Amino acid sequence: MKNMDYKDLANLIFPEIKDISYYEEKYPTRELPEGAIVTRFAPSPTGFVHIGGLYSALIARKVTAQTNGVFFLRVEDTDQKREVENGVTGIIEALAKFDITPDEGMKNEEESFGNYGPYKQSQRKEIYQAYAKYLIENRLAYPCFCTPEELEEMRKKQEEAKVIPGYYGVWAKYRNLPITEAAEKIKNGEEYIIRLKSPGDAERKVKFKDFIKGNVTFPENNQDIVIIKSDGLPTYHFAHAVDDHLMGTTHVIRGDEWLSSLPVHVQLFQVLGFKAPKYCHIAPILKEENGAKRKLSKRKDPEAAVEYYAKEGIPSEAVKEYLLNIANSNFELWRKQNKNASIDEFELLLNKMSVSGALFDMVKLLDISKTVISKYDAKTVYEKALAWANLYDNDLKELLEKDTGYTLKVLGIERGNEKPRKDISKWSTIKENIEYMYDDRYLNKEIEYEYQKINDKEEIKNIVNTYIERYFNISDDKETWFNKMKDLAQEFGYAREVKEYKANPEVFKGHVGDISTVIRISLTGKANTPDMYEIMQVLGRDSVITRLKLAVNDEGVLRITYAAERSEAVNNKKAVNDEGVLRITYELNEETL
Ligand code: GLU
Repeated sequence: MKNMDYKDLANLIFPEIKDISYYEEKYPTRELPEGAIVTRFAPSPTGFVHIGGLYSALIARKVTAQTNGVFFLRVEDTDQKREVENGVTGIIEALAKFDITPDEGMKNEEESFGNYGPYKQSQRKEIYQAYAKYLIENRLAYPCFCTPEELEEMRKKQEEAKVIPGYYGVWAKYRNLPITEAAEKIKNGEEYIIRLKSPGDAERKVKFKDFIKGNVTFPENNQDIVIIKSDGLPTYHFAHAVDDHLMGTTHVIRGDEWLSSLPVHVQLFQVLGFKAPKYCHIAPILKEENGAKRKLSKRKDPEAAVEYYAKEGIPSEAVKEYLLNIANSNFELWRKQNKNASIDEFELLLNKMSVSGALFDMVKLLDISKTVISKYDAKTVYEKALAWANLYDNDLKELLEKDTGYTLKVLGIERGNEKPRKDISKWSTIKENIEYMYDDRYLNKEIEYEYQKINDKEEIKNIVNTYIERYFNISDDKETWFNKMKDLAQEFGYAREVKEYKANPEVFKGHVGDISTVIRISLTGKANTPDMYEIMQVLGRDSVITRLKLAVNDEGVLRITYAAERSEAVNNKKAVNDEGVLRITYELNEETL
């Protein structure tokens, strides 16, 4: 015992552990093309994949693909209290749904693929211990025997002395414990952890260059942070340094909640003699609440969970496209110029990422989703909507499957052309976009015809009846059909063209658009639909006539009356405040009764 040195102490603590040279050889430097980025997604298997995690995984996947680099999935499960069953599978499946495929990493709960594995930290225990052993041998780390009571006592004293709390400098009780005493305690079975003997001085400042945030300055780390816990597993900080060194990570892309840990991480790389990676700290996705911005919260915001998007039926491509919009502000312009290109062709630049967080914008996401869906063909829309319905909406499943041929025609309306329909934003609301096309549902529904500019009951009746009697012919081609709509307009004193109306508004009651709106609403109950000619073609002659007649028969007219009164009231602005709207509702109810 007398002549014990640090090597002996290290051996006593980690008797069976290999020398680090073994691992340095086992995991050689990667041979990669110039400029190739090696990075990772390194989540903890907590059973929850946050949209922010998906965001960083997407960025990591993209920049590695762009540089012929490597993207790997490492599971950080050293905090075993936070772990849940099947947590790894949940992560793998979430990434797969978004088509984010790692080049190396975990493939199920326990197994991984790739030459730098294992990729689950709990399976790398001996590796971390080898590097901890190396640090102890070199007097850069030491066993600490502090009990919770001792730590509490230290905290109190520090509070009284009004100094920065923590385990450092003179406060670090076991930092300079003689080797023999440490050995004695270990042999007596006392509990301990391994701490870094920090060479830092908090009075000194260190400057780092973050790839996204630019230059940042922090005080040096002087805390003797824990590197190996009492269960023998490493802390996040230590595992990060060892893993990213051995796995050849060139860029650490992660959320900016880790920015303040940079002094610790960079110090660990230095002490271990490793080349530090480049750090890229991503700003979070934010939400506005009571005028203040905060991070999307797992507890408060359903949209924080990656699962939410699948449940809502928002295509994963749309979510990815939206995230790229947040990532690089030039994406939007690129998309305008490359309407049909795959997002893989967009070059994402880390240094063009915004330093501060963007607000989550659901309206924008759904807008993007509409565009994404507008580019699908009818069959794809059908398949995706059905896959969603199979999981979440039995009624929609029935609707879609009852007559597949007809449904494909419905979905095919205004699709595959220059300006495809853009009304479908997600599968969970697609019913609203198509249900009116099915007679068995539409004809049995109480429809409130919300006519727009033309809302005089008699006028509507006349327009619709005249259309049925003298203009409508299902065999007309589109041009003829449209010309007839103009003829109808003219017959009732409306301009054939909008332009014509605008030039002389006093001469006309309105224009052809007002007339076609009357027909559209009578036909579908909706003011906004895809192309009406195509709708009529899909519905067929009988359905068109039945629908139009239904709108203006006695019952239909009654309903028109309510709607007309309401729109008149709103038009006159006599009742648009909250109370007014309430009154309208009462009136309508009374009349309906
Ligand atoms: N396990 C850490 C997390 O889930 C990873 C951070 C990092 O990428 O270094 O936030």
